[in-house]
Amino acid sequence: MIVKIARCRNCNGAQHNWIFDQPTLLELRRIKKLTGLSAVTMGDAIDEGDPDAMAALLDLLHRRQNIVIPWDEIDLDFDALDMRPDAEDQEVAAQAESNPGGKHAAPPTTPSGAPTEAGSTPWSAPMPSDFGATSA
Ligand SMILES: [Zn+2]
Repeated sequence: MIVKIARCRNCNGAQHNWIFDQPTLLELRRIKKLTGLSAVTMGDAIDEGDPDAMAALLDLLHRRQNIVIPWDEIDLDFDALDMRPDAEDQEVAAQAESNPGGKHAAPPTTPSGAPTEAGSTPWSAPMPSDFGATSA
């Protein structure tokens, strides 16, 4: 993913041009602590423009440049933001589109040595009801 900010409100209008592939464990822990979002929901939340998720992403990207912004003060001018998948992501997306559903039907996996239904054995016969009965 490519994240560009034309005029960063946290950096006196500086310009950013980040390439973001994936967060590290420490970054994920920080994101979860700040937003309660897991790695799985983080992506969706950013797609939906969730403000906490956006702030966490900006926090992460700035920290990669050793810029630490107080959490409550992370700001963004959405007009200055340009987020897009990078070339590799687009290639993967294109491949997924050209092969919808992947038509490789897997053969049914039936175990050859499936256990046959257990027939009744002498052990399954009910015990005599009076066997071992205790007198009340
Ligand atoms: Zn900045």
